[in-house]
Amino acid sequence: MIELENVYKTFTLHNQGAAVIDVLTDVSFAVAAGECVALTGSSGSGKSTLMRMIYGNYMAQSGVIRVGDVDLVQAQPREVIRVRREVMGYVSQFLRVVPRVPTLDVVAEPLLKIGTPADKAKARAQELLERLNIPQTLWGLSPTTFSGGEQQRVNIARGFAHQFPAMLLDEPTASLDATNRAVVLELIEDAKARGAAIIGIFHDEAARARVCDREIDVTGFSPQAAA
Ligand code: ADP
Ligand code: MG
Repeated sequence: MIELENVYKTFTLHNQGAAVIDVLTDVSFAVAAGECVALTGSSGSGKSTLMRMIYGNYMAQSGVIRVGDVDLVQAQPREVIRVRREVMGYVSQFLRVVPRVPTLDVVAEPLLKIGTPADKAKARAQELLERLNIPQTLWGLSPTTFSGGEQQRVNIARGFAHQFPAMLLDEPTASLDATNRAVVLELIEDAKARGAAIIGIFHDEAARARVCDREIDVTGFSPQAAA
């Protein structure tokens, strides 16, 4: 479902004499439908960079990043947008809060964008907010003023609203209490059971061991971390 072949990523530091640093070299691995793979490696080894690159937030210098049957490195921008809307979801570490949009709409939005009828999208959003223990009194309010943990749970509800065939999860259980952490792990297991291919970063080893089938140590692709 997700396949990387010989992917390279460098950053050019324009504020430091255009120095070029190799962040990731020769990354190749594949994640099958129904499988969860954990990215591991020390802080700064390139886990988040790798995930952002797979999602297309960072451009790869070379190589192939295939999601379904689309190579995102070569694809036209509108094709990348379609893949991100329909095929591959990304739960970043923090919710990007849009001012004045009520929580229920924040969660339903990804479904509305792919043409889900409004009543169905709303029902799914409600189901997820309930599962993630966001009290109903908050559903009509913008998440801007919510606590960090509440914003994170809204972010997860939004990320899981559409049942993407591929998902990227950057620290989805960080700073959650045990109850909500268990809910997130259940959502991941449900997604795997319906055949989603998942790449996750989990600092919590117990969480990683429970939902992930395999680990990939990003340090092996990182000349900086190896040095
Ligand atoms: P991890 O998530 O494993 O902690 P990151 O992917 O955040 O690591 O960072 C990997 C390396 O890439 C670090 O050395 C970091 O400083 C560098 N890096 C990340 N993003 C950028 C950027 N936009 N520009 C330059 N260097 C970056
Ligand atoms: Mg990171």
